[in-house]
Amino acid sequence: MGKDTGFLEFKRKNNTDVPPEERIRNFDEFHKPLGAEERMEQAARCMDCGVPFCQSAVELSGMVTGCPLHNLVPEWNDELYRGHFNHAFTRLRKTSNFPEFTGRVCPALCEKACMCGQNGDSVTVHDNELFLIEKAFSEGYIKPMIPALRSGKKVAVVGSGPSGLAVADELNHRGHSVEVFEREDEIGGLLMYGIPNMKLDKKVILRRRKLMEEEGVVFHTSVDVGKDRKAEELLKSFDAVVLCCGSKKPRGLAAAEPGKVKGVYYAVDFLKSTTKALMASGGSSVESLKAQGGYIDAAGKNVVIVGGGDTGNDCIGTVIRHGAKSVTAIEMMPCPPVERAASNPWPEWPKVLKTDYGHEEAIKVFGSDPRVYETTVKSVSTDKKGNIKEIETVKVTFKEGKLTEVSGTEKKIKCDLLLIAAGFIGCEDYSAEAFKLERGPRGTVLTEQGGFRVGDTKIFSAGDMHRGQSLVVWAIAEGRKCAREADRFLMGYSNL
Ligand SMILES: Cc1cc2nc3c(=O)[nH]c(=O)nc-3n(C[C@H](O)[C@H](O)[C@H](O)COP(=O)(O)OP(=O)(O)OC[C@H]3O[C@@H](n4cnc5c(N)ncnc54)[C@H](O)[C@@H]3O)c2cc1C
Repeated sequence: MGKDTGFLEFKRKNNTDVPPEERIRNFDEFHKPLGAEERMEQAARCMDCGVPFCQSAVELSGMVTGCPLHNLVPEWNDELYRGHFNHAFTRLRKTSNFPEFTGRVCPALCEKACMCGQNGDSVTVHDNELFLIEKAFSEGYIKPMIPALRSGKKVAVVGSGPSGLAVADELNHRGHSVEVFEREDEIGGLLMYGIPNMKLDKKVILRRRKLMEEEGVVFHTSVDVGKDRKAEELLKSFDAVVLCCGSKKPRGLAAAEPGKVKGVYYAVDFLKSTTKALMASGGSSVESLKAQGGYIDAAGKNVVIVGGGDTGNDCIGTVIRHGAKSVTAIEMMPCPPVERAASNPWPEWPKVLKTDYGHEEAIKVFGSDPRVYETTVKSVSTDKKGNIKEIETVKVTFKEGKLTEVSGTEKKIKCDLLLIAAGFIGCEDYSAEAFKLERGPRGTVLTEQGGFRVGDTKIFSAGDMHRGQSLVVWAIAEGRKCAREADRFLMGYSNL
């Protein structure tokens, strides 16, 4: 274990954040890392518990707690505390393909299950992870690992989000020849064109792409499988085809549909337009975005966001940077408690109020939390040109499990831009239909029970397309397990 009295001696110290009023002037990442000495102290707080829930991914009360990748957290915290950065990184790399993604965007299931968090503050596992991977890149511990032998087997991966990248990384290192097909102009899936730059700088994805290319993975971007490239063609040319197309079919809003009412958009389309403009501009400031133009602009607008999850929060952060006049975030569910309820003890996933970066920024800019709970949009009104101008909201409550409107609670809110961030309902039809795939009730691809292979075919599926809308860490975990199964299919056994 690190330092046996570390958790008593040292207090938790997070990476410091650039203050909201400063960071909203640009789209840069805003967590400033601690120096090596302080980071080692933070690692010293790890108690090397007999039962390390942090790496367990155990399901408690219907929710998973602890790391789905089973990261060897106490081991690398110990190495980190001792200043053995490369050893620590080696242990991290054993279970995690892309710590630079999870170290930035993971909600840290490990920290919620950390023993230190039972009576105090958990260890800064997430920030420790980020420190290690960035150290590994900057110190040159990471070198292209090119397989000494090639198996002669060819694998096509469709979709280059975190699950597709994990499949590709694993199977390439195993010696198979991997080609990734991506319909967007850049790889990364929602890491690239969903999660905004301030949470994940896109250079981080391009750095990983370069490394994977040096190691032998071939990326074909702007190729939409099922449209530009036929499914049959892939099935004929490759020994296995792994589908990692995500879960991009958005849940709509009965009151207003994008495309039918002007000024109504799905959140991911909105976020993607900003990222694309920013990348085209070559800069990261609000000025460079504005000079570039060509994106869905929230400047000077009254913005309403439907959906209070991560996506809704990312929309809040983005519209504030655009210069929105006001922002309201509407959520159907009740406001969660600030502290764990007695029925939700450690180490369960804490069902508590999370005030994320976008909420903090809205509080700073507009003076109040933008979230309105137990509310939905009842109707929208437009001007003569069909532009959205106002919405009518109503309070809702769950009666016998059914969402019910509370009459007399209707309210009008000015709205020039309505963003729908109400979640996703499965993979898009055309990708599944191209491969004649059956889908389950959640719109996900049906595979063998507990596995990733589709019946007795050479098709596999992983990530959100297989699991349903989830998290980056789950997408990577699914990709790793799916790669093992595909490898067994190709070779008769697997050492992955
Ligand atoms: C706005 C937003 C913010 C989020 N923030 C977080 C966060 O902070 N932390 C977190 O852990 N998770 C977050 N998530 C969830 C996370 O991004 C996803 O769970 C994860 O990206 C899923 O990975 P995936 O590889 O399964 O799919 P995706 O990332 O969706 O990638 C699928 C890829 O497949 C491509 N594709 C689809 N069909 C085809 C086809 N027919 N041919 C070629 N290519 C195709 C798509 O273009 C896409 O690139 C967020 C999600 C959203 C929408």
